[in-house]
Amino acid sequence: MVFRSSTCTLIPEAVYTKQRNHFVVQLVYPAPWLKRPAVLFASSKEASREAMAQIQGLAAHAAGAELLPYRYDPGKLGSQEVEISITHCGICHSDIHLISNDWGISHFPFIPGHEVIGSVAAIGSDVRGLQVGQRVGLGWQSNSCGICEWCMRGMENLCPEAEGTCVHRNGGYADRVRANARFVIPVPDGLASEQAAPLLCGGVTVYNPLRIHGINPTSRVGVVGIGGLGHLAIQFARVFGAQVTAFSTSAGKEKEARAFGAHHFVNSRESKAMKEVANSLDFIITTVNADQDWGTYLQALRPLGTLCFVGVPPSPVSIHAFPLISGQRAISGNPTGSPFRLREMLDVAARHGVKAATEPFPMAKANEAIEKVKKGKVRYRAVLAN
Ligand SMILES: [Zn+2]
Ligand SMILES: [Zn+2]
Repeated sequence: MVFRSSTCTLIPEAVYTKQRNHFVVQLVYPAPWLKRPAVLFASSKEASREAMAQIQGLAAHAAGAELLPYRYDPGKLGSQEVEISITHCGICHSDIHLISNDWGISHFPFIPGHEVIGSVAAIGSDVRGLQVGQRVGLGWQSNSCGICEWCMRGMENLCPEAEGTCVHRNGGYADRVRANARFVIPVPDGLASEQAAPLLCGGVTVYNPLRIHGINPTSRVGVVGIGGLGHLAIQFARVFGAQVTAFSTSAGKEKEARAFGAHHFVNSRESKAMKEVANSLDFIITTVNADQDWGTYLQALRPLGTLCFVGVPPSPVSIHAFPLISGQRAISGNPTGSPFRLREMLDVAARHGVKAATEPFPMAKANEAIEKVKKGKVRYRAVLAN
């Protein structure tokens, strides 16, 4: 929402009325916490004042509590920061863990949300390569130190000072959000915003390990859990040419898993079916937040195979060392991806038609959407829209 002297960038879904030295803009899409029409001023001085206006969203005020309307003053826009006017924000399971303070790192109140799509509303004085009005995305990470070994190697997701978009700060269940420009990713035209939002966290979380482990047409990949992450992992593994086996405790997901690109489906509740896949896979990515018999999955790996965790099971992972030693197998994990990998992933998604299966909710119905996600009833990713 920035007007700069004579030029201005308009919000497409809004009605503008010019009054003396300012415009009154009434948003057409629902933003129920916006009780009054926003006032956008035509001069650059007043525009910067507008950029500093309070950000409005929905915050968790205590562990597990319903989200409530919340405003905060983001202060002066930093020289390397970008302010994004949010159109969509996916609901990731990490948001729900943060709201419940399952990981003990939540500071209340805070606005959850880290699968943001929107348009650039304002840019800091040192930002290059992004334009006001440009469509962009923001994922789990919103900043890093920029000077450590990992940042220098283009692995900002491993930076010890990595900042989460909604950890100790306010995220994307809001009208706007700010982040360091390096983590604000242009979105290719070929992707629809609603289907692209979940790629910013869920997508890159499964894409990055597939790339790191060199998945290619010779690979046999297993995907454990056919949900928000798993349905994207199947699609990306298929794009890389791998033979894909989907594992689920729910037999009813076979048809959809195959529609996403899985060649095989294994009901992981059936021990006979699990035994039949022993020693057959090169890489297994597990997306589930529930405890499993991990030893069985280790046995499903061929020599040199890797079991990679991107979902967080509640209990410690307990396995015997023998299969690791005898087949030189490995256990690994992956935290999101670097800004470079995010750009690459969105480009691959646009060119190869990878998209999240989404269920849209108005931003004001975030609590309703969260309840549905908690019950596992969303197929496959809930996306809030302003
Ligand atoms: Zn996430
Ligand atoms: Zn760093």
